[in-house]
Amino acid sequence: MNTRIIKIDPDNIDMNLIAEAAEIVRRGGLVAMPTETVYGLGADSFNPEAVKKIFAAKGRPADNPLISHIAEIGEVERLAREIPPRAQRLMEHFWGGPLTVILKKRPEVPAEVSAGLDTVSIRMPSHSVAHALIKASGTPIAAPSANLSGSPSPTLAEHCIADLSGRVDMIIDGGSSLIGLESTVVDLTAEVVTVLRPGAITAEQIAEIAGDCIYGGNYAEAPKCPGMKYTHYSPRAEVFAMKSMENAEEMLKAHGGKTAVIDMNPKRYAADIVYDAGPDLNSYAARLFYLLRRADEDGVDFLIARLPESEGIGAALRNRLLKAAGGRTDDSYA
Ligand code: AMP
Ligand code: MG
Repeated sequence: MNTRIIKIDPDNIDMNLIAEAAEIVRRGGLVAMPTETVYGLGADSFNPEAVKKIFAAKGRPADNPLISHIAEIGEVERLAREIPPRAQRLMEHFWGGPLTVILKKRPEVPAEVSAGLDTVSIRMPSHSVAHALIKASGTPIAAPSANLSGSPSPTLAEHCIADLSGRVDMIIDGGSSLIGLESTVVDLTAEVVTVLRPGAITAEQIAEIAGDCIYGGNYAEAPKCPGMKYTHYSPRAEVFAMKSMENAEEMLKAHGGKTAVIDMNPKRYAADIVYDAGPDLNSYAARLFYLLRRADEDGVDFLIARLPESEGIGAALRNRLLKAAGGRTDDSYA
């Protein structure tokens, strides 16, 4: 398949190009689009054949459900059969933005989107290009991250091109994703409000609007949905998430091969490569997936990365870092 790659400036949207992309979506094709979290690989949520192509292009297991993206809050009613008041409050408060809500699905939502579950996950992005594309398509767009299953989520069009060239109809380059981590996923179908995946919107922020909320994330004993059993990011290097950098030098020196460090405002380390995660948690979040890809490209064998405190987006960063490290920390290093 020939993949068309186009550039759209988020601050000055070319509506002719959006119309072209929307036409692909309406005809059942695949379009990779920029969002404020990460790039998404989109298809018409109501077209099961199109949705199946997403799984094929990514190599994604069919039991991992997809998030449907909408352009107006009212469109939730096309997908969900029940909208509890606290869900309505969350949507009004945080949309467009990096919050995905799980609600009971309407029968019209194809089983391919929900992976056979009775629920549907929905998000309204704030990104101008995603918003324009969804609106012009006239349908919710089902979109997981636009990477091959098992590689880090894409935060630049270059990442989508590397993973999906020849496998999708179009890739829209809209620059780098501002947030850089996937959305917060919150389950609103049970009595207890549960955060299934931490993101830029924190459990505390959700509790303020929705009342009590618990974190039932990926390291919970029983996965709340099939998709949670998959580890998303598997760099080639052996990765350690560092609660403290105290033993960093010792660990680096003990290792042969190519060594690297990811740290905020890094000092000098006895490593082959030192990657700068920026001055604060937000820049760390925006750069993490990019740096994990870089480490692979640079042929890094042993990678240690600072595990930040859990305030703000730190909780989401910790979650992604621990996944990338397969749960290994400096504590477990022997
Ligand atoms: P991705 O689109 O690759 O960022 O992954 C979407 C995430 O949302 C996965 O972890 C899914 O398992 C989760 N998800 C999507 N839909 C549902 C749902 N209906 N119930 C529970 N989790 C979901
Ligand atoms: Mg993904």
